Amino acid sequence: MTPAGSLLVAEGLYKAYGPTPALDGADFSLHPGEVVAVMGPSGSGKSTLPHCLAGITTPDAGTVRYAGHTLTAMTDTQRSALRRTDFGFVFQFGQLVPELTALENVALPLRLNGTPRKKAEHQAHTWLEHLDVHTTATQRPDELSGGQTQRIAVARALATQPKVIFADEPTGALDSLNGERVLTLLTDAARTTHTAVILVTHEPRTAAYSDREIIVRDGRVKDTSAGWV
Ligand code: ADP
Repeated sequence: MTPAGSLLVAEGLYKAYGPTPALDGADFSLHPGEVVAVMGPSGSGKSTLPHCLAGITTPDAGTVRYAGHTLTAMTDTQRSALRRTDFGFVFQFGQLVPELTALENVALPLRLNGTPRKKAEHQAHTWLEHLDVHTTATQRPDELSGGQTQRIAVARALATQPKVIFADEPTGALDSLNGERVLTLLTDAARTTHTAVILVTHEPRTAAYSDREIIVRDGRVKDTSAGWV
């Protein structure tokens, strides 16, 4: 059954790396613009789930459908193209390109999508302003704090105006004050732009930022509002 109006739907995802499955029949659905927090114990499959949803990891069984496309039936090239245009990513340690300035890092996905340099840099600057890190525009990653790095990573994820942002422990390396700041900026910007967010997190106060929380346990998904799905 596909929930009506869903943007991204996974059914029966199964993925094993060894004898113990990382995902063991996980189902998931996401509405446009929805912010979903993914929680659960370490090793439960929290990261494997978004990796499968984004088409980075191919599940051993099950399907992922996104906006009418069956990701699990696409070629790698088709999935990569979809990721560039429709998905944004924020990782635990920012993963900015060390040789590029903050501005160039945010402009990079726009350039990869074919936006001319001047336009890409103008848009990148606007996103740095939204995330309140425009003063770092000419700095390189080794000159930035952890909080600044993560805000720039959020700006980079939002710059292409994706439909879904995958954020895997985006505040895991930050103190709680900076962590809350980054989560507030990320979720506020996502709501303003109607971007859905899948937020894998250990933060205790996720309810303040998310529309819905799910718990992954033993490779299965529990929607806290709907029981095991
Ligand atoms: P979580 O994010 O909840 O900590 P993961 O999804 O990262 O859990 O991992 C779930 C299980 O799958 C763990 O037992 C982990 O060791 C294993 N796993 C995940 N990715 C890989 C991989 N690339 N190679 C081998 N094992 C992996």
